[in-house]
Formats: sequence, structure tokens, C-alpha cells
Amino acid sequence: MSKPAPSWSNWSGSVVASPKQVVSPSSIEEIAELVRKCKNEGRKLRVVGSGHSFTPVAATNDLLVSLDNLQGIVSVDSEARTATVWAGTKLKLLGELLHAEDLAQENLGDIDVQSIAGAISTGTHGTGIHLGTIATQLLGMTIVDGNGDIRQLDAESSPDIFGALQVSLGVLGIVAQVTLRLRSSYKLEYRSSRIPLSECLDRLDEFRTGHRHFEFYWFPYAETCQIKFMDETEDRITSRPIRDYLSEMVLENGVFGAMSGLCRRFPRLTKPVSRISASSVPVFRKVDYSHRIFATKRLVRFNEMEYNLPADAMASVIREMREVMERERFAVHFPIECRYVRGDDIWLSPASGRDSAYIAVHMYKGMPYRSYFAAMEEIFLRHGGRPHWGKLHTLKESQLRDRYPRWQQFLDLRSEFDPEGLFLNEHLRDLFIPVSGANDSHPDPKE
Ligand SMILES: Cc1cc2nc3c(=O)[nH]c(=O)nc-3n(C[C@H](O)[C@H](O)[C@H](O)COP(=O)(O)OP(=O)(O)OC[C@H]3O[C@@H](n4cnc5c(N)ncnc54)[C@H](O)[C@@H]3O)c2cc1C
Repeated sequence: MSKPAPSWSNWSGSVVASPKQVVSPSSIEEIAELVRKCKNEGRKLRVVGSGHSFTPVAATNDLLVSLDNLQGIVSVDSEARTATVWAGTKLKLLGELLHAEDLAQENLGDIDVQSIAGAISTGTHGTGIHLGTIATQLLGMTIVDGNGDIRQLDAESSPDIFGALQVSLGVLGIVAQVTLRLRSSYKLEYRSSRIPLSECLDRLDEFRTGHRHFEFYWFPYAETCQIKFMDETEDRITSRPIRDYLSEMVLENGVFGAMSGLCRRFPRLTKPVSRISASSVPVFRKVDYSHRIFATKRLVRFNEMEYNLPADAMASVIREMREVMERERFAVHFPIECRYVRGDDIWLSPASGRDSAYIAVHMYKGMPYRSYFAAMEEIFLRHGGRPHWGKLHTLKESQLRDRYPRWQQFLDLRSEFDPEGLFLNEHLRDLFIPVSGANDSHPDPKE
């Protein structure tokens, strides 16, 4: 169950930590025992999913808990189309297990390597203005709080606090199981093509309302973007495994990775590389079951910032970003990723209370990103932006407080669930402890 820990880092390598111990419990009781022991010894604890957050939300220099031994389906209700699953289950495995039961999640992000609890806890989302974040699929959970108490909570029995549990960055406790609202398996037709950026911005309303899923990638310094639509279909699965493999692994990852390496050495190449990427946007159509269509491979490592904005702000924010990029000439060759998500009523969900646009900026690993991200963040914040909890941002408690109507209620609930701050690291203290209360100098890792 416990092993000595080498140093730990997140997917992008931007966060490095030296946990004293990594523990992988195999039951809810083991989790509860671990929390109680930690509390008695005055130690700190963080639970990690797949380590795919860019922020140090999961990092600790003390005890790191992984739920990799707690994966799979606990029970399925086929009629109600719900399933209870272990919180450590990776989305790829979950997709296949649910598919075997003729069930599927209504929406997912663009990779499937995260754990279900990790994805839920940071407000991970896909795209589709009629569909909420993954956390909106949550109906109930079993969580071990900071006292080591096992609590079973669901939307019906705890309507007053359930909205706080849905997106909680692991500061309310360790989620052991989650119950998900599902639907029957379905296929998606995925179409990719390219159009001029100006046309895309003019037709955003039509695109976002006319398709189940719509997203676009704008290539900086090129007036072109890639548009992607996904719509439900009864058509046959397209089977072009070799072509798909070549497109994904060789073009999207291999060639792009090699060009990114060149950009890192010679930043002047970023503009021509962005233009080349824009002109080689693949035009294709593909049909498969939803969970296989959503997932893409991301082998080229990068750092990322993503902000949630009111849905109607998309076009004006992109235009401002373009103006600033033209002026500042940032060395950027990664496209800007633009998606839509339906609003929800989850306390700390960035999509809380509004239909949302999400805009993400990326920078190849090893290339300087701070001034570029800072300039973009300034624009996002002016338009009412709220950061994605798993992606880079610079906000602290005092700046977050005004962006979430139920912020103080969440802080109160956090103190109740974890009175001794067992689950806080330095990054999380910056987010959740008002400055006057920040009196702990525990040397935890930070970006
Ligand atoms: C290549 C790449 C692509 C991405 N694509 C998308 C995307 O399409 N859409 C999007 O919204 N985001 C995306 N992300 C961000 C990612 O989905 C989130 O950061 C997500 O939280 C990562 O899941 P994880 O399992 O790796 O969680 P971790 O990063 O390991 O942890 C995230 C948080 O969840 C908490 N947590 C994990 N397990 C538990 C548990 N059992 N109980 C309580 N708390 C827990 C952790 O403590 C931490 O606070 C992407 C990231 C990468 C690197």
C-alpha cells in the first residue's frame, strides 16, 4: 500500500514535488484510516488523479495518495442509466466499461487519461453549448472528509451543499466513489475543416447552436482556423485505422513535435510554423462511438492557461487577443483552442450561472510563456473571466472571491469538512485562505 516516493511531477513538468510517501489505498476504509492517521500526526495530504493539471493542485511534499488501485464500476442501474464507479477510474477505461453496458457519458474533454474524480474536481469540460461540464454528470459521491469520516452525499439528500462538492479541487476530502448520470451509447460524426477566422467569428452563433459539439482552433499570425463539429449519428463506424493513426501520431504529434522543437531553438520560426500548421489543417470525417471520438492523443507537451468567459464574449475577446498578439509579437505557434459549455449551478464551477465560452492558450514545454499568458489573462479578466482550476492562472483568494457568488459559503464549508487544513498545500492556501488567515508556512511545492 505504501512505497518510498521518488520526486513527482505533473504531465507538463511545470510542477515538481518531493512527497515523503506515496500511498495507494485499496478500500474506502483504508482511505479513512489514512486520513485519521495523518490528522493525528499533524501531517498534510494530497490526492492525485493522473497528474494532468498544470497548476500545483495535487502537489505535496508530504503524503501523496493515489487511487490507482480503486478503479472500475461498482454498480450499474441500466434502467435509470446511472453508474457508481471508483473515483480513481481513468476515463479511457471508464468509457469502455460503460460501453459494455450500453452506456456513455454525455460529454467529455479532448483527452481520456484523467481520473474521473480529478476531471470532476477541477471542472473539466468538453465543448457543446447544450452540455455542461463533466461535474454536471455527478449525482452522488462517497467522500472521506478531513476528520476521516466517510460521508455519502447526493443531490437529493443534500441539495444545500451538493453544488459545493461537485467542483472542490480535493479540498473537502478524498472522493472514493462517484455516481454518474449517463445515457445510452451513441455514435458521433466528427468533421474537421478550415475556414477564415473572420468568417468563423461572424458565424459563431450559427455554429454553436447548430451542432451538438462545436469548437475551433485559431492559429496565431494566420487568418485561418480549424473548425470541428461533432453530431450524433446512426451511420456506420468509419474504419480507417492506418489513416487515422498516421494523421494523429505522425502529423498532429510527430511532425508538430519536431516543428515545436525547432521553434524552441529558433523562436523566429513560430510565425511561419503557425501558418504552415494552419494551411495543413486536416479536412476529414470520422464516425465512432462517442468516448472514442472525444479522445485525442497529446504527445507534444505544453503549458496551458484556459479561461471561462460569458458565451457572447467569444468573438470580441478573440479580436482583442489578435490585436495584442500583433502588437507584442509573442513567439507562439500553438493554436488557440475555443469551446462552449452550458451554464450550471455548481458553486465553484467556472461555468456557474452562465452559458460559457472557454478560450485556452498553450506554449510548447521549455518555451517562455509568462508574458504571453499574462497579456492574455489581462484580457480574459477584463471580460469577466474565471480560470480553469487545473490550468495556469495567477489569481489569489481576494481576486477569486468577487467572481463567485457563493465563494464565502464554499470557504465556510471547507472549514467544516477539513477544520485542520489537512488537504491544503501552498497553492490551495493562496486560493482558499483569505490573506489575514494565511499564517502557515508549510514548505509545499508551488509552480
Ligand atoms: C493534455 C491535456 C489535455 C487536457 N484537456 C482538457 C480538456 O479537454 N478540458 C478540460 O477542462 N481540461 C483539460 N485538461 C485539464 C485536466 O482535465 C484537469 O486538470 C484534470 O483535473 C486532470 O485530471 P487528473 O485525474 O489528472 O487530476 P489531477 O491533476 O491529478 O488532480 C486534479 C485535482 O483533483 C483532485 N483529485 C483527484 N482525485 C481526487 C479524489 N479522488 N478526491 C478528491 N480530489 C481529487 C486533486 O487533488 C487535484 O486538486 C487537460 C490537461 C492536459 C494535460
